[in-house]
Amino acid sequence: MTESHMFWYEVGGLSAVAGVLPWTINGHSGALDPADVEATIRPNNIHFPDTTLVCIENTNNRAGGTIIMPEQIKAINDVTRAHNVKVYMDEARIFNASIALRCDVKEFSRHVDNLMFCLSKELSCPVGSLIVGEQGFIDRARKVRKMLRGGMRRAGVIAAPGIIALEKMIDCLAEDHANARLLAEGLTGVDGIEVHMNAVQTNIFLFSVENLSTTAERFIDGLNRKGLLVSSMEKYTIRLVTHGGVEKEDVRKALSILHEVAQGFNR
Ligand SMILES: *Cc1c(COP(=O)(O)O)cnc(C)c1O
Repeated sequence: MTESHMFWYEVGGLSAVAGVLPWTINGHSGALDPADVEATIRPNNIHFPDTTLVCIENTNNRAGGTIIMPEQIKAINDVTRAHNVKVYMDEARIFNASIALRCDVKEFSRHVDNLMFCLSKELSCPVGSLIVGEQGFIDRARKVRKMLRGGMRRAGVIAAPGIIALEKMIDCLAEDHANARLLAEGLTGVDGIEVHMNAVQTNIFLFSVENLSTTAERFIDGLNRKGLLVSSMEKYTIRLVTHGGVEKEDVRKALSILHEVAQGFNR
């Protein structure tokens, strides 16, 4: 998908390391339309590379932490299976989707061939991501990891917090979602700032400063100087994220900084 981590943020590793030619499809709030997927699968032709894999991202970071619903994943899988194409789900933040919808992660994973999720990011671990799939896939991945110098000795030290994350941190995600909502709702009252409330689904959301006649970069500069760290997504779009280190009191502080900085640009 065009707005995917894999395409944007992995230094072109898809092509450089995996040797594949990605074809991106535009999403709708982070979700792919099965008809677009079907249209993109290359037919059998001597000039064409084989289409082997469709990748989806759940929740979708660049769309603002939006959830791809289990039925949407199934619809993609129905299309790909008919063409013998596999589905990989980049679900760094799948537990956010699961907690937000109050449904088991299995409801998402049952419709894909393999997947990954992060222990760091929302689950607060210092490091770590896991891939999940059939034994043969995992065996191959272990070899590739070794080849890329990603093997580790005595990895138990960093695996231990991963177990704590899985046992204790998942239930805390609801608080991050509530804080994100509080932040988003508070922002809707700020002159010149535009928040798409229906895209506020998990712990990430986007807002635009275009109506303040400034750019995301300049607005972020103002926020940074007052101690609020955020990232820009596009020329006018800024991303806010809540996580384990952010309490309700921090949300109040952040809102007051956002108000102040926005007022500076309104003048
Ligand atoms: C962080 C992230 C990744 C990569 O995770 P690593 O731990 O660096 O492998 C992949 N996809 C998404 C959506 C992410 O946010």
